[in-house]
Amino acid sequence: MINQKQLERILPKVEKPARYTGGEINSVVKQEAKVRLAFAFPDLYEIAMSHMGGHILYQLINEEEGLACERVFSPWTDMEAIMRKEGMPLFSLETKRTLKEFDFVGFTLQYEMSFTNILNMLDLGGLEVRREDRLESDPLVIAGGPCVYNPEPLADFIDLFVVGDGEDITLEIMRRYEKGNFSSKKEFLQSLLSLEGIYVPEFYEVDYKEDGTIQSRRALVAEAPLVVQRTILKNLDEVYFPEKMIVPFIDTVHDRVMLELFRGCTRGCRFCQAGMIYRPVRERKKDTLVQLAEKLEASTGYEELSLSSLSSSDYTEIEPLINELTEKFAEKRVSLSLPSMRLDTFPKELLKKMQEVRKSGLTFAPEAGSQRLRDVINKGITEDDVIKTTEELFQMGWSTVKLYFMIGLPTETEEDVMGIKDLSYQVKEKFFQIPREERKGNLRINVSAACFVPKPFTPFQWFGQPTMDEFKEKQVMLKKSIRDPKVSFSTHDAATSYIEAVIAKGDRRMGKAIETAWRNGCVFDGWGQFFKLNNWLTAFEEVGLDPVFYANRTRDFDEILPWDFLRVGVTKEFLWREYQRALNETITPDCRNNCEACGVIETYGKGVCQ
Ligand code: SF4
Repeated sequence: MINQKQLERILPKVEKPARYTGGEINSVVKQEAKVRLAFAFPDLYEIAMSHMGGHILYQLINEEEGLACERVFSPWTDMEAIMRKEGMPLFSLETKRTLKEFDFVGFTLQYEMSFTNILNMLDLGGLEVRREDRLESDPLVIAGGPCVYNPEPLADFIDLFVVGDGEDITLEIMRRYEKGNFSSKKEFLQSLLSLEGIYVPEFYEVDYKEDGTIQSRRALVAEAPLVVQRTILKNLDEVYFPEKMIVPFIDTVHDRVMLELFRGCTRGCRFCQAGMIYRPVRERKKDTLVQLAEKLEASTGYEELSLSSLSSSDYTEIEPLINELTEKFAEKRVSLSLPSMRLDTFPKELLKKMQEVRKSGLTFAPEAGSQRLRDVINKGITEDDVIKTTEELFQMGWSTVKLYFMIGLPTETEEDVMGIKDLSYQVKEKFFQIPREERKGNLRINVSAACFVPKPFTPFQWFGQPTMDEFKEKQVMLKKSIRDPKVSFSTHDAATSYIEAVIAKGDRRMGKAIETAWRNGCVFDGWGQFFKLNNWLTAFEEVGLDPVFYANRTRDFDEILPWDFLRVGVTKEFLWREYQRALNETITPDCRNNCEACGVIETYGKGVCQ
């Protein structure tokens, strides 16, 4: 454990000491436990505490007899500088144990640009970053979350990846560890190989062809499966969800209580990794959700309840759920938010009802500027949907709209890019077509255009990302043309998205580049002020990797992709079919109405899709 007095002396010198104190409402301090896991989020406290998965695992483990879960986050740079100067190792917020004092350090991988923070946290915690250099007495470093759907770039650093829903499997790993029927870490890891969703990189080797693509993968022990299947929880209604959540002392990114409606999505947007890897759709029942909402509100005192999922307005019982919750919470002035709802299909009267307590801005994600390109990405929103819905909502009194787009999507032309401006301006016109005396508020349209990053397990996994220069050209084109005091325009940094694509599509050799970049000073790469493109480019050069090979190269169907050994539900054949349909500008309807045979039923059995 770290020295408490030393910590007390340091804290007044840093920004927001509450990031490091723990002790918040609903946090759990277990002095006695047989097995301890440090839940590690490789970013700042304010981001980490907004992550629903972390809240679920934390309370789940801590409700178990003999098991403990504590939190460890990336300290901000001011705190890290003092910790390194004073020789204070990274510590947990609950018992102030150092990483070495845990049995497991469990990272959640949400974003490739936080990978250097993982190495930094291990190092600050007194652990070697490479798994082969760590001692038998050191904790096992495990990882889960969306980025494990290509675990290979982190294969040098992580002992064990958990692919899929983490609740049951995490408890199973900890319980098996508690029994202690093993003589070494290696033996323990080997004993887990029969479980669904477990990937242990040290038991595999990869060979490469001369052109740099993968030749083959080999298992080094008989128990290691050549195909690792993602583990899923089929009946979400019976899956644990906490009745309380930690309430931070300071503002966080999502300062509200979160309730998960369902996992999975049937829409089939071709750019969306979450929409593919979390299939099938599994819902919680309305009554379960209402009960949980009441308990969560009572245990946290929050005034906002966020109904979370990939597409919340698709929840089967959304209307009765919102009606019941608004009635229950009206007096307490608790507002509801649906961060990922599709405004085009959402009943407007319901929206009005939801916003009676607190009115927030409107967010629309057409993703692409032209109908042609929206068909390519299978977005399923028409220009009419956007225009008519915003018109209706302007008439109901809204005046702030956010429009999210991407640039650099497959087959994009100059016309598609300019379509972003055209659509935004059409939305503006609708506001001013309302008679002046009936308009409410001052119109504000915030348009943002992110740089598209092709991700594993999407139909666009084969697609080569445009170069940084191409992205910049498109950005300049839009910046020059969107010139209206009512419409603001922002873009994402093309260089950050480029490195994100390089890592996302990386193979095992990428680990050396990540480590070199970190040793060259890269941390908090997702934060614009810290991102150092040149350090990354130097790192690739030093380890002999060509970033263009990873980010900008379009692949063939026959190429073995680094993540092909994972079986997640959707098959490679389905994804390829969708890619071809994209190139032919053919849409695929929502599979809720018509099964598209994506592979989920073959993988998980009949009846898994609702
Ligand atoms: S198996 Fe059919 S219904 Fe189920 S997720 Fe895939 S396409 Fe949709």
